[in-house]
Amino acid sequence: MLSPYKNNWVCGEMVAMEDCLFCKIVNHVLPAKLVVENDEVIAFEDINPQAPTHILVVPRKHIGTLNDVTAEDRSLLGGVVLAAIEIANDRRISSSGYRLVWNTNRGAGQSVFHIHVHLLGGRNMAWPPG
Ligand code: AMP
Ligand code: ZN
Repeated sequence: MLSPYKNNWVCGEMVAMEDCLFCKIVNHVLPAKLVVENDEVIAFEDINPQAPTHILVVPRKHIGTLNDVTAEDRSLLGGVVLAAIEIANDRRISSSGYRLVWNTNRGAGQSVFHIHVHLLGGRNMAWPPG
């Protein structure tokens, strides 16, 4: 049987990949409300939005947590952040303000172990975050 992941050579271990929710969205195995898609990243609406704008920007490459990032991912991470900035501009929240959040490991609230940045905006935000 053809695997939907067969071209996703960067995803490492096949079992982990097949279990990964965001790999499934990256590979269009699961649906999402897509905002942006390019060679490096995919961005989609968070299913449980915590702000009027709540978009997840996800590298196509499977990386479990920020702790797993290596020097070869330098450009990829830049691409993720640039995509988030462009989306913030498109959504006209650049001036009012927005927040980029990378939750890393369960203690920080990470629940999907494929790195992603949350783009949150459209409301005032408190500091420190909970
Ligand atoms: P985190 O808790 O930082 O790992 O963020 C994971 C985010 O993924 C949460 O904000 C969830 O609401 C969101 N999420 C989970 N499943 C889906 C899905 N199928 N489509 C879109 N967003 C999702
Ligand atoms: Zn993944």
